[in-house]
Amino acid sequence: MNWKNFVEMMVVYEEGEETLWETSSIPDKELRWGKSVCPYCGVGCGVLVGEKEGKIHKVRGNPEHPANRGLLCAKGGTLPLMLDTPDRLSFPSLREKASSEFERANWEKTLGFIAEKTKAVLKNDGPEAFAFYISGQLLTEDYYVVNKLAKGFLGTNNVDSNSRLCMASAVAGYMTSLGADGPPTCYDDIEESNCFFLIGTNTAACHPVTFQRIKNRKASNPKEIKVIVADPRRTRTAEMADLHLPLKPGTDVALLNAMLHVIEKEGYLDQAFIRNHTADWEKLKNILPLYSPEKAAEICGIEASLIREAALLFAKASSALSFWSMGLNQSSSGVAKNNAVINLHLATGKIGKPGSGPFSLTGQPNAMGGRETGGLAHLLPGHRLIGNERHRAEMEQFWNVAEGRISPTPGLTAIELFRAVEAGKVKIIWIVATNPLASIPNLNFVKAALAKAELVICQDVYHPTETTHMAHVLLPAAQWSERDGTVTNSERRVSYLEKIREPPGEAKPDWQIFCEFARRMGFEKEFSFESAEDIYEEYKKTTRGTGVDIGGVSYARLKKEFIQWPCPDEHAGSTPRLYTDFRFPTSDGRARFQAREYAPPAEPTDEAYPFILTTGRVRDQWHTMTRTGKIDSLLKAEPYAFLELHRDDAEKLGIGENEMVEVHTRRGFAKAPAHLSENIRPGTCFMPFHWGSLWGEADINAATVDAFDPISKQPELKFCAARLTRLEPVKAET
Ligand code: SF4
Repeated sequence: MNWKNFVEMMVVYEEGEETLWETSSIPDKELRWGKSVCPYCGVGCGVLVGEKEGKIHKVRGNPEHPANRGLLCAKGGTLPLMLDTPDRLSFPSLREKASSEFERANWEKTLGFIAEKTKAVLKNDGPEAFAFYISGQLLTEDYYVVNKLAKGFLGTNNVDSNSRLCMASAVAGYMTSLGADGPPTCYDDIEESNCFFLIGTNTAACHPVTFQRIKNRKASNPKEIKVIVADPRRTRTAEMADLHLPLKPGTDVALLNAMLHVIEKEGYLDQAFIRNHTADWEKLKNILPLYSPEKAAEICGIEASLIREAALLFAKASSALSFWSMGLNQSSSGVAKNNAVINLHLATGKIGKPGSGPFSLTGQPNAMGGRETGGLAHLLPGHRLIGNERHRAEMEQFWNVAEGRISPTPGLTAIELFRAVEAGKVKIIWIVATNPLASIPNLNFVKAALAKAELVICQDVYHPTETTHMAHVLLPAAQWSERDGTVTNSERRVSYLEKIREPPGEAKPDWQIFCEFARRMGFEKEFSFESAEDIYEEYKKTTRGTGVDIGGVSYARLKKEFIQWPCPDEHAGSTPRLYTDFRFPTSDGRARFQAREYAPPAEPTDEAYPFILTTGRVRDQWHTMTRTGKIDSLLKAEPYAFLELHRDDAEKLGIGENEMVEVHTRRGFAKAPAHLSENIRPGTCFMPFHWGSLWGEADINAATVDAFDPISKQPELKFCAARLTRLEPVKAET
């Protein structure tokens, strides 16, 4: 193998930027190389992992993996450095109160204690008083087992995931527009597409490898291939665009409806597609007169000519891919925004064809696998719904539990769940592979909630995190490279992750912890799985005949291939695109136009709080920094949190570059040095959400709002009203 080429292929950053991901001086040929997938974002890059004597030394992009074809970003390249840190959890611990010291315990005692407490709560308070809050970091096998345990056996649907903060609006958007969840596109569409519409996504920072592929495609024919970016900030993503629409945060539906208005008026509708493959066009058409470019321009705060230009670039292109992520999803009208993007594709027939379609970019490595296995409070395995009687009956039969065992009431979603903990309705909360005390909006209420819980269990890889500080029980989990299993990336591609080394101390795979607990709860037979593969084989059967059918995907096959569902039998291959026959999984086979009106965000600005606060990511950090925050080379680009604001606003407030600013909202505050810029709309300020309270007072989620979309229940992390105050420098003591 020519590793030199691999290193060259890995570089996805700008020329001249430091690439500090040579993590070991051991020659490649002295390492044993295993195959895995990067555990950070939903691009799902395939990686080759170099191990020697139980230690992971190097990671390379796997040139055979279709998601990245050998490319990696710095986060993926530095994975070895997040494994053997001094804060790895390696044995179970218990304490009476959150204020006491933890005491080391063994698995027997710890799981016995949790089982006793759980039995008491189920008996006295009912199953709804117990909840799991899980994560898109879990593997498919973990997801399946925990959902089976809670929904089929403990009798609670209170299993929600941090994917609720990430992709819930996309799930509901696909379901309401197309009849089923799941992006119909694939990464290979990038090389087939002539127009890229990126809205509410800073792909360069959040999905660097996908961005690089778009950039390469653009570079292959810069005149013909068009890139449109809609974002209140002029990000590195926007810098690549032919057309940047710096719209006011939260106004996407007005923009998208106005683009459709132009497309209709200018005669670019695909009338045959609308007639033959869709329903409810008339309903949508009726609201379009309200969204002339001039009217939308007022709402969006941009020129009407930009809206016209964007609409015509999109409509005239022979193919178009739309990408989006949190900028649309994290909104009190997140589902409407998703529907409005999909409307554009349906109206122009740009779906089910090479290089065309709506493509939500998943934030986490296995948010898709979670959705497939029922990892949200309203779902059951195989994209089934709790609210659907037939779906419940199918799973009851499959799990061989009594009719009616699965409660017909969907469980509590993330924000509802923490509110129920605060109200004393949920007594036990079991938090797995996530850090809600840094990631949930309006953190002070989450803190108050956890302080009230009778039992907080944290199953994690590290301690301390902002959340493990509040735990009564710590359960050490094995992490990436220390156990095997599968994940599904943003393009529906299932990949297998090898176990390459042993976990530290007594840490175990998450599925094993759930099964050992389940057996203590009396479900020995149903949770007698001996391997991740056993679980996968059971889960696979639940998908038979569903849209997410993976009947033909075995571990043996996944060790050689990376397969996109559906793949119903062993003779079937990957399905790169859905709906290529233009039949949709609705009652009449037609996709549905959704007539969505613009609605302002939940907390508008006012005199007291005149700024729009929006949050997001930086390129080299991941979520709440429990892993990437420990890697010096990743901290180099952005060592601290910062508040980005427009120079004109800064001047009015007397704030200079790097001066400390307090961002204050109706719920709380955070402090950070100011970064002055002309790349953000005046009146808007931006702060990355990665830095939690372990890093000082920069935890911006103490200030964000916990309003959520009424359908998806995804919170509005991208918009709240804030005021900014310059802080006087602290004088050094003499
Ligand atoms: S963080 Fe995302 S883009 Fe970067 S290597 Fe990992 S999966 Fe790929």
